Amino acid sequence: MSTNKPQKRVVIVGGGPAGLMAATQLLASDCELILVDQKASIGRKFLVAGDGGFNLTHSETIKSFVEKYDSLWIKNAVAQFTNTDFVAFLHELGIPTMIGSSGKVFPEEDTKPIQVLNAWKAHLGDRVNYHLGWKLEDFQDGIAHFSAEEKTHTLSYDYLVLCLGGKSWSVTGSDGTWETLLKSKEVPIIPFTSSNSGLELYDNWLPEIDGQIIKNVLVSCKGFSCHGDVVCTKYGLEGKPIYAVNRGVRQDERPAITIDFKPQMQVDKIAQILKKAKTPTQGLKELKLSPVALFWLKTFVSKEAYNDSKKLAQHIKAFKVGIKGFRPIDEVISTAGGVAIAAIDEFGELLNQSKVFCAGEMIDWDAPTGGYLIQGCVSSGFVAGKRIANQLNK
Ligand SMILES: Cc1cc2nc3c(=O)[nH]c(=O)nc-3n(C[C@H](O)[C@H](O)[C@H](O)COP(=O)(O)OP(=O)(O)OC[C@H]3O[C@@H](n4cnc5c(N)ncnc54)[C@H](O)[C@@H]3O)c2cc1C
Repeated sequence: MSTNKPQKRVVIVGGGPAGLMAATQLLASDCELILVDQKASIGRKFLVAGDGGFNLTHSETIKSFVEKYDSLWIKNAVAQFTNTDFVAFLHELGIPTMIGSSGKVFPEEDTKPIQVLNAWKAHLGDRVNYHLGWKLEDFQDGIAHFSAEEKTHTLSYDYLVLCLGGKSWSVTGSDGTWETLLKSKEVPIIPFTSSNSGLELYDNWLPEIDGQIIKNVLVSCKGFSCHGDVVCTKYGLEGKPIYAVNRGVRQDERPAITIDFKPQMQVDKIAQILKKAKTPTQGLKELKLSPVALFWLKTFVSKEAYNDSKKLAQHIKAFKVGIKGFRPIDEVISTAGGVAIAAIDEFGELLNQSKVFCAGEMIDWDAPTGGYLIQGCVSSGFVAGKRIANQLNK
């Protein structure tokens, strides 16, 4: 039965996983759906994420899954659209998934990232109208203003969903320039910082390490810790355990990480092996430490401690490495900071801008890489899209 009511219009700006999931939640609602992106194609960072193994989410139980996030707001969003829900959705798209040995969820082998994106676009079908190459410049009282090459455009909206991403990899369109726009609307913004970032070391720590891998160590900082392999580069350290302690490093006034080079062995056993050996260097060889560990222990442990098996064992179990800083924001996997949680309600609606929602990495939450980022983005897109759908369906 026709109600003769004019159809409401929802404009989603940003075609990453958050924007795509917000659109997905609105497919069944009676509304006109428009998706705008400043790039000529959508999902560019999503595709970049796919380059090094497309880790879409993680298979652990939702109880421990949500603990990987820093704020209650994003934990609540993820609890509403969980890792299991996301995997079920991917299957609905016709994307089979597999669980890697570490519990990470990937599309099945031979499924390319672009196939995942195309399947999602096909799912949205012609319910969504796209305006690509349009950059959001302003919005006010139901009218959004865009620039495109030398032209400007306006779109009226009943709901506006901002899914504008963080600030790293600006080449993908996630350039964080929206910060100025939202600040001008008195939306509190937490300054962006590098997250899931490599750590830079002081120069005297760098000789001989480039290209080496320190295998199977435990890295800790301020209550954050992670097992795994650390990759050494010409500027410092990369790899999963390094990214996992980023949050700790950020909280540390004089940042330093602690590396346990032999996590599977007790300190007493290590001291025993060192004591039995003819020389400390011989003992270190027997412990099969990586060349980087050997170089650092020889260079930075005092002579007195190096020659004392107990003290040297303690250094092997808890070796302090001073941190100079994070990698430049443009090259890191994700950014922390963005729209303050205090600026939005539980659905992502801006408290000072009715019917304007935010979702995805542009909101100030943080999580380690390993599928938690994309999951946080789709879950927050779900929450915003679902809220609007419920209001439209009333
Ligand atoms: C190298 C790399 C590897 C990664 N690997 C993983 C991984 O394995 N697993 C994981 O979970 N995550 C990974 N990520 C992170 C993940 O890709 C992002 O967290 C996710 O894409 C963010 O989604 P989003 O929808 O919030 O924003 P984005 O995907 O960043 O999309 C934002 C969109 O908004 C558009 N936009 C911005 N400003 C405007 C404007 N003013 N007007 C119009 N459009 C605008 C941009 O063009 C962009 O298309 C990786 C990221 C990188 C860089």
